Amino acid sequence: MNKVIDSSTEFLISSRSSGPISYPGTEVLSTTADSGEFSLIQRFLTGRGAARDDVELDIGDDCAVTQIPAGFSLAFSIDTLVSGVHFFADADPQSLGHKSLAVSLSDLAAVGAKPAWATLALTLPSPDSCWLECFSLGLHELARQFGVRLVGGDLTRGPLTISIQAMGLVKSRRALRRSGAEPGDLIVVSGQLGDAALALQRLLLARQQGKQSSARVEAIEPELRERLEWPTPRVELGLGLVDLATAAIDISDGLLADLGHLLEQSGRGGELEINAIPLSPASEAVVRKTQDWSLPLSGGDDYELCFTVPQANLKPVLALGMALNIPLAVIGHITKQNGIRLRYPNGEILTGASPLTGQLGYDHFRQNSSDD
Ligand code: ADP
Ligand code: MG
Repeated sequence: MNKVIDSSTEFLISSRSSGPISYPGTEVLSTTADSGEFSLIQRFLTGRGAARDDVELDIGDDCAVTQIPAGFSLAFSIDTLVSGVHFFADADPQSLGHKSLAVSLSDLAAVGAKPAWATLALTLPSPDSCWLECFSLGLHELARQFGVRLVGGDLTRGPLTISIQAMGLVKSRRALRRSGAEPGDLIVVSGQLGDAALALQRLLLARQQGKQSSARVEAIEPELRERLEWPTPRVELGLGLVDLATAAIDISDGLLADLGHLLEQSGRGGELEINAIPLSPASEAVVRKTQDWSLPLSGGDDYELCFTVPQANLKPVLALGMALNIPLAVIGHITKQNGIRLRYPNGEILTGASPLTGQLGYDHFRQNSSDD
C-alpha cells in the first residue's frame, strides 16, 4: 500500500481505567468490564470465519495450531494499515475489515497460495462495539469467501492500527516468485489499473471542499470507490498461475514500482506498451484529457497481479482468465537489458532514467516523502 492520507492526524487516547501496570500509550483494553478485551474478542471475533478441520487450536489458546498437509508448504504474509496513513480515520469499518484482509490475501495470491488462516493484531483507540461489529463483518465475509479462519491475534489500545497476517498453503517448491522472468516472456496484468488511486485523489479533493465535501464525496463514481475500499484479491488467478507463470507480484504500490521489483529480482528488464495498459472508462477519460499516465502507472492500491509467461503459455493463461472472468492484458515483454522502457503511442520511449520512472511508486521511507 502506498498512501499517506493525512500524516498529521492526531489521536485522543483516553487513559486506561483499570488493569495491570502498563506503559503510557501501550495499554491493553480493560480486562474486566463487559467491553473488556476478552469479551470483545469473544463477541466480535471468535468463530465467525470459515470452519476448518485442520485447526487444532483456535482463538482462546496461547497459540493457534493448524495442520499442514503433506506436499504443501506454508505461505504467510503480514500487512499493516494505519489510520491517517492508509485510510481516513472515519473510514467505514466494514470496508476496513474487508480491505485489511484483502491486502494480505493479495500477497498469498501473488505466490499462488490457497488462503487458510489469519491472525489479527488490532489496536483501537476505544472499545467501540459498533465499530468492531462492522469491522468483523467485513473481515469475515471475505474470510468465508476464501475459506479463511481467523485463528488468533492481539487486541490493544492505541491509535487505530490493523495488522493481519494471512497464511495459506502452496504446493511445496512451487510457489510463484518475483524472480524467474526470462527474456521474451510476456508481461501480463489482471483487471484495470489506476482506479483506486483515482478514487483516492477525488476523495482527497472532495474533503478539501469544506461544506460541500459530502456532496462531492457522494458524486465520486461508486465503481471507483469500490476499487479503493473493497479490493478483490486475485486468489484463484494466482492458484491457476502456479503451473503457467515464470514470475509474479501483486500490484500494491503501483505498476512501475512493483514490476520494477519483479524485474530487479529476475535480473531482467521490461518494455511496456503504454496503450496496452488496461484502464476503466473513468481512468481512460482522465488519461485522454490530461495525457498523464501517472495514476495507472504509479498509483497504488490496485491489488491486481502482474506476472510473466512464456509465449507458449499465453493461450492457457488467457483461457484461465476467461474461465475466472478476470480480464487479462498483455502489456509488454521481458528484455535482457535491465530497466523499464515505456513505449508511447507517438513512438516516444521513456526509459528507467526518465523523470516519470524516477518516481516509481510510494515508498514510506523515501527521503523527503511526506510522512517521513
Ligand atoms: P496471550 O496473552 O496469551 O497472548 P491474549 O490474552 O492476547 O493471549 O489473547 C487471548 C486469545 O484471544 C488468544 O487466543 C488470542 O490469539 C486471541 N485474540 C486476541 N486478540 C485477538 C484478535 N484481535 N483477533 C483474534 N483473536 C484474538
Ligand atoms: Mg499466552
